[in-house]
Amino acid sequence: MSDSLPQVRPARVRVAPSPTGDPHVGTAYMSLFNLAYARKTGGKFVLRIEDTDRARYVAGSEKQIFDTLHWLGLDWDEGPDVGGPYAPYRQSERLETYRPYVDQLLASGNAYYCWCSPERLAQMRQAQAASHQANTGYDRMCYGLTREERAKLPGFSPTPVVRMLIPDDVPLSFTDVIRGEVAAPRPDDQVIFKADGFPTYHLAVVVDDHLMGITHVVRGEEWISSTPKHILLYRWLGWEVPAWCHMPLLRNPDKSKISKRKNPAARLLWFQEQGYLPEALRNFLQLMGYPPAEGDTEVRTFDQFVADFDWSKVNTVGPVFDVKKLDWLNGHYIRSMSNRDLVARIFDYIGTYQIDQLPPELAAGKFMQTLIEAVPLIAPRLTLLSEALEKLRFLLVDDAKLQIDPAAAAKVAEDAAAVLPVAIEVLSDLPEFTTEAIQDGLTERLVDQMGLKKKVAFAPIRVGITGSLVSPPLFESMEILGRESSLARLRAFVR
Ligand code: GLU
Repeated sequence: MSDSLPQVRPARVRVAPSPTGDPHVGTAYMSLFNLAYARKTGGKFVLRIEDTDRARYVAGSEKQIFDTLHWLGLDWDEGPDVGGPYAPYRQSERLETYRPYVDQLLASGNAYYCWCSPERLAQMRQAQAASHQANTGYDRMCYGLTREERAKLPGFSPTPVVRMLIPDDVPLSFTDVIRGEVAAPRPDDQVIFKADGFPTYHLAVVVDDHLMGITHVVRGEEWISSTPKHILLYRWLGWEVPAWCHMPLLRNPDKSKISKRKNPAARLLWFQEQGYLPEALRNFLQLMGYPPAEGDTEVRTFDQFVADFDWSKVNTVGPVFDVKKLDWLNGHYIRSMSNRDLVARIFDYIGTYQIDQLPPELAAGKFMQTLIEAVPLIAPRLTLLSEALEKLRFLLVDDAKLQIDPAAAAKVAEDAAAVLPVAIEVLSDLPEFTTEAIQDGLTERLVDQMGLKKKVAFAPIRVGITGSLVSPPLFESMEILGRESSLARLRAFVR
């Protein structure tokens, strides 16, 4: 037996999102697995922007793709923004690259011009649907005709598209690294070049994956049905076919494909908006690929994930997107973080998403100071960064603007009358206004001397100081507020 590691060829892998709207969580999921495999094999991870579908192009979407993937730490070695040996990495900037291959396929008879107008194609489809025929593909009206011959027939459009001539013996199965032998349906005479001079996805993806030296095509399982077409193009162009790794799609709890329409979590930006940490989401997406091995914990760094990465472990049954698990991971990562780091994250979060909800009178210095002092108090029960502001609000508002929950006030009204005047006296006389001194002073008078239960003694103080019966630790909060504010609040509440 040899203990040397098996030699793996450095992989070149890519993620190839289309900028058609705000980025889908699937883009991050694919990027994660691509990147892990590149790191595992000492290879390269490429980001390519597939923007050939001009009708679906959304300005700004590309930047959101870059920003959200960087946010997740899923950084690429080559891409439109960082360049690389195969630049450009944006398909709209590579248009002159594709045309020669179209001409080659036309010359070899593997492709043909089609002048059918959109109206004619719609009529054809309607007739096919009405006759319930099994073959619903393009009927090859244009195949074998010259432009002049075709122009005499109905439904002629002067700018043609180019279609693949799918042969009868098209191979309908292929070997997938994750799934083994996979069957796919018979393809239609796919359009590979459009009337607007842009290639379609199918041609551009094959040309670019080949020219960019991609060794493993890692993508979602929705592309399985396209793979026979892609394999034909590789063969016709005389190129080596890459390895295929079709990842299972993420599913909603009802097992349907995760979509922006049905599930807000399909949008990558949603996680930022909600206050998830990138490390928690990344860890969560790792778990969506496969659960940890026996004895391993669910909390794993990216480096650990890479170290034992293996395609054979990937579940082929679509993993269900369980936000409760993500919440748990988020809480875990919040609690593993230093206070400084957490303060910075909460500061950034509030600055980006909740700036309008800050008390208008709040000064910047007081905001930062309060975060530094109070974040350790709220961290133990924080699940999302977005929850911090509500928990800290009572410390950020001016005393006069503190909102008292009327239900809480009603509940403690009777005890307050007995407790608060004494508490005010004790707090005024304390030599130092520290957590310990506050707690000891109040406990001595209210609990030990007056014989009140702790709950009876402290609930009215809590409502007066924080406005609510549920709050971060009371004595610590009072220390942060300081003597003057604490007394002002209690005096106002007594009235
Ligand atoms: N542009 C395709 C998409 O948006 C890429 C598919 C692939 O990875 O081949 O999903």
